Amino acid sequence: NAPVQEFEYKAEMKQLLDLIVHSLYTHPEIFLRELVSNAADALSKARFSSLTDGGLMAAAGEDAIHITLDKEKLLFVIEDSGIGMSEDELIANLGTVAKSGTLGFMQSLQEQKKELDGNLIGQFGVGFYSVFMVTENVTVETRSAQEGSEGLRWQSSGQGTYTIEKIEKNERGTRISFTLKEEYKEFAEEYRVEQVIKKYSNFVDFPIYLGEKQLNSVTALWQRPKSELQEGDVHEFYKFISNDFEDPLDYLSVSVEGAVSFKALLFLPQNAPMELLYRQGELENKGPQLYVKKVMIQNECRDLLPEYLRFIAGVVDTEDLSLNVSREVVQSSPVMAKIRQILTTKILGWFEELAVEQPEKFKTFYKAFGPIVKIGLNTDFTNRDKLIELLRFESTKTGEGEFVTLKEYVARMGGEQKEIYYHSGAGRAQLLANPNLEYFQSRGIEVLLLSDPVDVFVIPSIHEYDSKPLKSIEKADIDFSKETTEGEEPVAENLLVPLLAKFREALGEDIADVVESHRLVSSPVTIVGGKDAMDSQMERMMKMMQQ
Ligand code: ADP
Ligand code: MG
Repeated sequence: NAPVQEFEYKAEMKQLLDLIVHSLYTHPEIFLRELVSNAADALSKARFSSLTDGGLMAAAGEDAIHITLDKEKLLFVIEDSGIGMSEDELIANLGTVAKSGTLGFMQSLQEQKKELDGNLIGQFGVGFYSVFMVTENVTVETRSAQEGSEGLRWQSSGQGTYTIEKIEKNERGTRISFTLKEEYKEFAEEYRVEQVIKKYSNFVDFPIYLGEKQLNSVTALWQRPKSELQEGDVHEFYKFISNDFEDPLDYLSVSVEGAVSFKALLFLPQNAPMELLYRQGELENKGPQLYVKKVMIQNECRDLLPEYLRFIAGVVDTEDLSLNVSREVVQSSPVMAKIRQILTTKILGWFEELAVEQPEKFKTFYKAFGPIVKIGLNTDFTNRDKLIELLRFESTKTGEGEFVTLKEYVARMGGEQKEIYYHSGAGRAQLLANPNLEYFQSRGIEVLLLSDPVDVFVIPSIHEYDSKPLKSIEKADIDFSKETTEGEEPVAENLLVPLLAKFREALGEDIADVVESHRLVSSPVTIVGGKDAMDSQMERMMKMMQQ
């Protein structure tokens, strides 16, 4: 008899399990989605590896997921013929937390009394452990598809230790079995399992069988012509691939034939993903799924879209890449570059169309993703002009939360006005209270109000639009007309000169100069920046970042 080895979870793992089981989950049914998703991943890896690796053990039957229930004994079994796991993989995958920072993140959620909904669990690589919500003891029997592998049994009660022993297992793949807690006996009922599978796993691209019956509809939606797509299906598909609970804001179906051929189904989420809010920079790991001839090659392919569009979810399927390509080859392939270029153009065109045809949707999109898209102005020079047209600003002539485009601004500016004016700061109210606005307000000159923190980094780089320079109203070199308001006496030269000298003397090194101003209406003084000086909002941002 082979010995049973006992292992201890890392301390971090214990805390994580405790959090998952006792505080964070509110939807126990999620365990089913997570187990199915792992089984599908394992099948997908096997399908992909078999194309590149000759030594792989073949599956006994169809590539599929089988669920078996025993209502009397409350037994639940899920089995796949996927890639399986070796002993090292069992320890690495089921005994440790994969992503660093996960525990801290979960704890912060708990402190904020936030629920760990299904939306998040999959994103943080802790899906497997959700099974401990519905059972006290889990058995994983697995055999890796790699040559020379052996059968293994992993067992744990999620309490601090797990065991691994060798077993007899003839076929590759993984079988996970457990007895349900009495309170979750519903998951031993066929109707309930079918319901949950239909809800979360309908688009898994391997058949899922409950006994003899197939529960999911395996269809590659992105292969269908646009006219055949049903909105309900498309929305469900989006939720399935993105782990989002909400419908997408909009979707785009793309079919390209030519120098490269591909089909794509792309989605605009309603909201920016949690990662974007909680984990800055994590977005670099997002992107649509890449399929080659209906085989998934990469789950989150960075190379399909430029970074500033990587919040777009979906599937891209091409015939023009070879199946046995490595990640590096995909990355540097001219086919990918071509696909990225075409997709970018299509997506920017899609945004443009939304702006014209569905302005409310566009506004929702812009509020959620505007700050990310703007970054493209500094990185994607080919599409700069298109991106500039997408920009939206509040201004002194819009209401709060209403937008104006640069085109509209230029169309309504007076004949005299030669420049486009903007004012940047932390928020509308603060911006409107600034004395530098007085001149513009009193003469009815529109000023764009920039309150998105990204604005100061990207807007000044536009320099001009429609041959009109963009200028911060804080700058000293604005050409104010000298005419005084009616009934107002100009200050006599012999008073002004000594007065300015007094100011210069008092302020000394702290300032560059004191000059007579024609920009003020009711305030006596204001501070402005020199021609080449940094915008004050920019200066504040730089200081904040240095801290
Ligand atoms: P994630 O799926 O996000 O990586 P999970 O906690 O769901 O996180 O699973 C952890 C890891 O365990 C997986 O990445 C995979 O390597 C391994 N695993 C889980 N289930 C299976 C399975 N059925 N077959 C093979 N490997 C599996
Ligand atoms: Mg998983």
